[in-house]
Amino acid sequence: MEEYLNKSKISGDIFRFLYLNKQSSRQEIAQSLGISLPTTTRNLNALQESGFIENAGEFQSTGGRKAIRYQCVANSRYAIGIDITRNHLSIVLIDLALNIIDNTRLRIPFHESHDYFCILKQEFEKIVSKNIPDRSKLLGVGIALPVIIGEDHKTVTYATVIPLSLNIYNFFSDYIHEPFLFFNDANSAGLAESWKGDYKDAVAYLSLSSSIGGAYMNNKMIYGGSNNRGGEFGHMTIIPHGKRCYCGRYGCLDAYCTANVLTDFTEGNLKEFFDILKSGTNRGIQNIFEDYTDYLAIAVNNLRMCFDCDVILGGNVGAYMADYIEDFREKASKLNPFERDGSYIRVCHYRTEAAAVGAAIYYIDQFIQNF
Ligand SMILES: [Zn+2]
Repeated sequence: MEEYLNKSKISGDIFRFLYLNKQSSRQEIAQSLGISLPTTTRNLNALQESGFIENAGEFQSTGGRKAIRYQCVANSRYAIGIDITRNHLSIVLIDLALNIIDNTRLRIPFHESHDYFCILKQEFEKIVSKNIPDRSKLLGVGIALPVIIGEDHKTVTYATVIPLSLNIYNFFSDYIHEPFLFFNDANSAGLAESWKGDYKDAVAYLSLSSSIGGAYMNNKMIYGGSNNRGGEFGHMTIIPHGKRCYCGRYGCLDAYCTANVLTDFTEGNLKEFFDILKSGTNRGIQNIFEDYTDYLAIAVNNLRMCFDCDVILGGNVGAYMADYIEDFREKASKLNPFERDGSYIRVCHYRTEAAAVGAAIYYIDQFIQNF
């Protein structure tokens, strides 16, 4: 049905306006976009008939006719995000409103092998066939990897966390037949958080998992820098001649704030670390966490000094920080010469799905921009 929509600049502007404002009335749309009411009505009708927008009830009114509320149809399009880490594979299906429709997460070590990609394809197909009968509604597949990606989003320019060959894009194309592109995992996670938190201006995201990464975003767009390495916060030196980092240098943030610093004491189990910490029964665990947050506070304060924006704690460790955020804000504030209030430090929305959701958002964003 939607194939009949004759897309125009005006219908695109109306669709984008509704997407950004969640819901709106005919009058408000006409006024905000400077279009006449009859033109607005004609376009709203066409968009509604084609299944891209819907009637969401009426606005409260004190008298006269109540205005109809319009909104975008969330399930008119979908995107998939795949997050590949050294030991896990996550697949997430989201709709236009970024709702997670379905997801799966397997513990499976990455290998650039036929066996691995067969499992990936199988899990991917399971989610698609279960949720999207009409495959033309699937916009594309964003793949998040713990590597640095070239500007074309098809080449890998730096990979140490997982081993990848240079023709990895071609390897993927034998198994995934939808449009797909590669994204840096921490950049993607940051993007997902900035969309979810609806950040209109700048925000820095710090990904605290088995390796440290991040992203700096402005108006929900990632700042890539000159070499697409913007947001590589893990290799900021925080202790001169300090602990050795996996990159080969000394004193990087990664060496002090990788999740492994915590999980080394609980046989790799982060949940167990935080369970023990919460129980308050183990002095050793408490000291480890104190040291960890001392270093983390340096990094977070540095980000605040650089960017003067909110800083989101994300990644696997960030997902557990809600219970400790007030103490941590106080700790970071002590390093800050300008402010005592640490409320600029936020805890992430997503627990494990952020990187996959962020990679999928690329396709949602493209769809909205080009509508
Ligand atoms: Zn390093």
